[in-house]
Amino acid sequence: MESKWSDVEASAFVSKHSERWGEDLALRAYSSRLLGAESALVLHGGGNTSVKGTVTNALGEAVDAVFVKGSGFDLAAIGPGGHTALDLGYLKKLATLSDLPDEKMLDELLVHRLDPRAAPPSIEAMLHALIPLKYVDHTHADAILALTNRPDGEAAVAEALGGDVAVLGYVRPGFGLAREAARACAASPGRLGLVLIKHGLVTWGESARESYERTVSLVTKAEEWLRARRASRRAGPGRGGGRATPPQPGASAGAGTDRTGGVARGGTASEEAARVEVSHTPYELARGRYIEVAPVLRGALAIPSGDEDRPYLRFILTPLISDEILKIVDSDRGKKICLTPPLTSDHLIRTKALPLWIDDPGYGSAEKAAACIPEAVADYAKEYDEYFRRNSARTPQGVGRFDSMPRVILMPGLGAVCAGKDAREAGVVRDITEHTLRIKAEVFESGTYEGLDEEHLFDMEYFSLQHRKLDAGGDPPLGRTVAVVTGAAGAIGSGICEGLLDNGCHVAVTDLPGPRLDSYGAELAKRYGERAAVIPMDVTDRRSVASAMDAAVETWGGVDLLVANAGIAHVAELLEIDPKDFRRVQSVNVEGTLHVLSEAAKHFKLQGTGGDVVVISTKNVFCPGAGFGAYSATKAAAHQLARIASLELAPIGVRVNMVSPDAVFGEGERKSGLWAEVGPSRMRARGLDEKGLEEYYRDRNLLKARVTASHVANAVLFFATRRTPTTGATIPVDGGLPDSTPR
Ligand code: ZN
Repeated sequence: MESKWSDVEASAFVSKHSERWGEDLALRAYSSRLLGAESALVLHGGGNTSVKGTVTNALGEAVDAVFVKGSGFDLAAIGPGGHTALDLGYLKKLATLSDLPDEKMLDELLVHRLDPRAAPPSIEAMLHALIPLKYVDHTHADAILALTNRPDGEAAVAEALGGDVAVLGYVRPGFGLAREAARACAASPGRLGLVLIKHGLVTWGESARESYERTVSLVTKAEEWLRARRASRRAGPGRGGGRATPPQPGASAGAGTDRTGGVARGGTASEEAARVEVSHTPYELARGRYIEVAPVLRGALAIPSGDEDRPYLRFILTPLISDEILKIVDSDRGKKICLTPPLTSDHLIRTKALPLWIDDPGYGSAEKAAACIPEAVADYAKEYDEYFRRNSARTPQGVGRFDSMPRVILMPGLGAVCAGKDAREAGVVRDITEHTLRIKAEVFESGTYEGLDEEHLFDMEYFSLQHRKLDAGGDPPLGRTVAVVTGAAGAIGSGICEGLLDNGCHVAVTDLPGPRLDSYGAELAKRYGERAAVIPMDVTDRRSVASAMDAAVETWGGVDLLVANAGIAHVAELLEIDPKDFRRVQSVNVEGTLHVLSEAAKHFKLQGTGGDVVVISTKNVFCPGAGFGAYSATKAAAHQLARIASLELAPIGVRVNMVSPDAVFGEGERKSGLWAEVGPSRMRARGLDEKGLEEYYRDRNLLKARVTASHVANAVLFFATRRTPTTGATIPVDGGLPDSTPR
């Protein structure tokens, strides 16, 4: 590892921030970002930093302060205001107590902020306060954990880092660790830092650069030791250390654009598997297996809620598949490597103490997978329940019990699957798991891995201060939900996508491939991040629909909601209509609806946790208009298909409903395609311009209402959030048109 310190960047940081925050805090933020940018040092909000200085109070007195990273700030993006000032003199006095319970310590830290509006400080704030040097950097560096997580961890640290550091055996984070760390620091003057066994590294210095570069140099030494150890241990050929990591599937907008043939589809699973076996790399095979088993796994992980309307608490899944991970998981000792405790207790609240390992998930046989996977998950849950029972007497007051489901699931030939309440959380688990497996494999190469014992694991999993990081309010109305929206780049489709995304849903934004879809996808990605994914789909092509569903599964593990919105219009009287045009409209409006309904139904069955379908119908189904035969007839057929689906899918807990809008023009760039087609002839017929036509339709309804895409989205949300036990029903969104009220 190399120091990324740049005097030019540092002074740019200082000139930008020193007027408001002072030079010390500006440099504190700069070197914190250097740490945060290095995933081998810090992952997702992990690690914390501090600097000591003074704060001038209202009396004009300079009060000694320690500025500690605020809880929830990510070092990679922290600014000078991300460090919370605490009354250092008071904290030093606190340290003279023989003990201070966690909750009390946190209260003291909150009360002794020197700015009451600053974020709560990191739970490791006391450690920073009690180390007497100006700058302190604390990371859970990969290479350091690769030294400490062994039965002979202290010896490995001594051998790798020599006398440069003090070493402290495992102490649970909190007041006790802060005091022990301060003692170890005082007892070994002149050292560059402190290694915390099975936890991480602390370095210090009189300048930001000194403390940062001490982290870098100690980590580099650890890496060198590991490299040398690996080289001397490596026996025989065939053990290359290659780290080729193909791009993560489905992680970005555009997922699913090139998916032909990678996935078992059509024919029997075993025939497909046999074909796939001969023509694909282990990575591609693993990806195909993931798409095959993910819905079953997601169904098995879903926790029954006891609420009939929303019967399951689901997880969002993300795969971790790369050549490196496959090599680890598929190695002789893959299972042994994977079924060990986490590297550092910081990861526990994300990953749980242990992952689930499934020896045989039943690849190639839906029947076998449907039996094996739920059984493995149930066994894990049973073991977790027993682990909780064994240790529950030590659960601190006010700390709720976690569910019994695993967050990391490992399968030979597939890699890892990571679970979280949303894509972001699942992504955090994925990144932690990737580093974890890499380091564990590294340790196994050069010795024996040893993590924390059960008691310590439990104490950290149920550590009240850690829990505060987790629950900031409950799930949004459509949290933990995945939707597929067709015709998403149009006026109504985009309104629906945004309505769903605003309510916490993960949305596969599907439409015909092209710049219109891409630019809309890019816009959504900016606003909603990884909860929106562009997936091209042609609803008239069954294979395209199937592979778009697969792409949604690949991205989030499954699908819970289908909004069938894609549709086209054509204006011609029956007398003149060209059968070719009629077939074109029919192929999108009828067959397209049939394809998405069928593929979604197949998926819902596999997943086994019910589901929802909302079909966007039209006022024309109930009250058709002259010259509009192709549209009205084909939409009526689609509407009827939806009603049939409500009958057929009710037994598996799927609700199918319809929304019937009228005269949604759309706005700005996303004008309604329907109106682009219909508008000109309607305007001609009535001698109106565009504005006049809008007025005309507005005037036609009882409420004189202008109907917008977000009104349609609200009706979709009503069904999607399952406010009433309703299926097979239609909500009109038309301002009141007595002739077209569904009967
Ligand atoms: Zn730590």
